[in-house]
Amino acid sequence: MLEYVIPAPKEVVLKEGSFGLQDNLTLFYTSDVERIAEMLARDWPCILKKVDLPLKMLFLGNQLTPLTQKEVRHKEGYTLDITSDGVQITALSYRGIYYGYTTLLQIMEDVKSLPAVSIYDYPDLDMRGMHFDLKGAMPTVEYINQCVKLLGRYKINTILMEYEDKFPYEKYPQIKAPGALTVEELDTIMNTARDCGIEVIPLLQCLGHTEYILRHDEFAQLGENGTRQMLCPLKPGSLELIKSLIDEILPYHADSRYFHMGADEAWLLGYCPECSAYAARHGRARLYVDYVKQVAAYIASKGKKPVLWDDMFYKEKGFELIEDLPSNVVLNLWDYDATEEETPYVRWNSRAYVSKQWIDRYPAKIAQFGAWLEDLPEDEQYMIKKYKSGDKYPLMGHPFPWMKKYLEEGCEVIGASAAKGAGRFSYNSLFPDFKKRFINTLIWAKRAKEAGITGVISTAWSKYSTVAPPTESWESAMYNYIASAENYWNSNSTKESFDRRFSMNYLGANTKITKAMDYLEQGRLRRDISYLKAAELLLTETKDVVVKHSVFVDILLDALHFEILSLSVDNQFWEVQPWLYYSFSKDALRQEVNNEAKIQLNSLKERLLQWQEDSISLYKSIMSATEAEELVKTKAAGKLAFIETLVNKL
Ligand SMILES: [Zn+2]
Repeated sequence: MLEYVIPAPKEVVLKEGSFGLQDNLTLFYTSDVERIAEMLARDWPCILKKVDLPLKMLFLGNQLTPLTQKEVRHKEGYTLDITSDGVQITALSYRGIYYGYTTLLQIMEDVKSLPAVSIYDYPDLDMRGMHFDLKGAMPTVEYINQCVKLLGRYKINTILMEYEDKFPYEKYPQIKAPGALTVEELDTIMNTARDCGIEVIPLLQCLGHTEYILRHDEFAQLGENGTRQMLCPLKPGSLELIKSLIDEILPYHADSRYFHMGADEAWLLGYCPECSAYAARHGRARLYVDYVKQVAAYIASKGKKPVLWDDMFYKEKGFELIEDLPSNVVLNLWDYDATEEETPYVRWNSRAYVSKQWIDRYPAKIAQFGAWLEDLPEDEQYMIKKYKSGDKYPLMGHPFPWMKKYLEEGCEVIGASAAKGAGRFSYNSLFPDFKKRFINTLIWAKRAKEAGITGVISTAWSKYSTVAPPTESWESAMYNYIASAENYWNSNSTKESFDRRFSMNYLGANTKITKAMDYLEQGRLRRDISYLKAAELLLTETKDVVVKHSVFVDILLDALHFEILSLSVDNQFWEVQPWLYYSFSKDALRQEVNNEAKIQLNSLKERLLQWQEDSISLYKSIMSATEAEELVKTKAAGKLAFIETLVNKL
């Protein structure tokens, strides 16, 4: 299985010979890595023996025989040596040993004779993160635990945990949604993460996106100008409430160096009379910073680094106010659209600015919600040019220009790509973009490594707000999570190389799964059922041979069936919509044609209802019935309503 390891190890030297896994082997381990020794002893029963050595080590064999002298330089790097005498992993840290172990696990899957090899491996990025967004389509705790373990095995070392209304709040239990985690459940997730060397960073929205708090009447008076999207930054109760929630969350995250306070998309900033007057006097950016700096200072006083999403600084043109934040503040720069090494647009104000020069060159480069760079005031153009840099400005430039700006301001920077929940299909489909997401995480990995920032977290939005419908399911994006793990470890990875390994590694069989996923995407993009039918054929073949994680294939097939039905409804609309002009009831001939269309539409309705039932029962294997129903029914609701409207009109 060596050739299918994910992430691909950096240096692999194959040797002559092999090591046979036999009964009664001894696993020698040094202090601090006993947990990993116990895990390995569960995978291959052996006698555990602790030894005293200056480095961290696992050695599986008959007797302790050092196999390598190679020095590990990277703090999360490891060596893995297999000879006829045994298997040895050395590293400087718990994580290093754990990563050696996870590589070994992938090699020894289903084989008893391990090939002799010498591996030296280390990551390109220090932080390799995944976002767990519990606000929508939340899986069962069992699934979450499996997912944590799985990601650990692919060497993800950070989880950004967005609890929203699923944290076991005690002081304000009314914030908890049905199905929120219990204290015991949260403990099991934290223990699993700790075993896998994963740091779990909590995320608590402190300003905007606080619908999950403000939806409850007792907090409504804290809403900005009486709304329920964001807290009013000038009402003292807002800061007090957030501090109190921070206090509740902190004890569960003693191991985390960071605390993420959200603070993005505060769309209603400056609306109420007090905020409006404040903004008029000091500026909207000042209104924002004067609030968030208090939250950040509180987090810093608890010994954590406060992390903020970065968008309000470029939306409100408030870069110069970053220095007001505590010195250990971390900016989390998000960009889910970059899919090229250089991009034509820059995020500024609330827009994506591009050059007018694209009009007669290649209109596809013009951002849908964009504005023109050339229309900006000169000083702003000058600054954008400075940070976007590159010879090709204004056409192309650095995909994340503000990264350099934040680094100059002395901030630690973490990037944020997207693995799911970031596309125009997210509300209406049950699978994410695959290709675009792969490239987005890869571009991030390359630029993060080049700039030397801490790392990148792949976001996986499950809802855009508490009151929004769910996006695609967690499992449907598993390819994207594992691809993130690959790319953050190997920033020079390629999709071809990853695709070659994914099926074997994740499904345990050589299948055409990535080809099927490509057809599935193309069918959706091109609105072409032929591609979807081709995908269906490949997925059905795949389903017959997978030995692991078959739910992934089931979920893709289910997503595909919905896509076909959804497209069939649209096609039917195209067929009948010009007829809506006529009044059919007066014309017997047309009524006949019309009845035929009604029969087609009603048959689609029946198929959609059947799909809905099947789909809910499938999703119930990984989430509660309530969550499964919401996920499935929100996707079908629009199409069902559309059919009903058409049938009534015809
Ligand atoms: Zn206000």
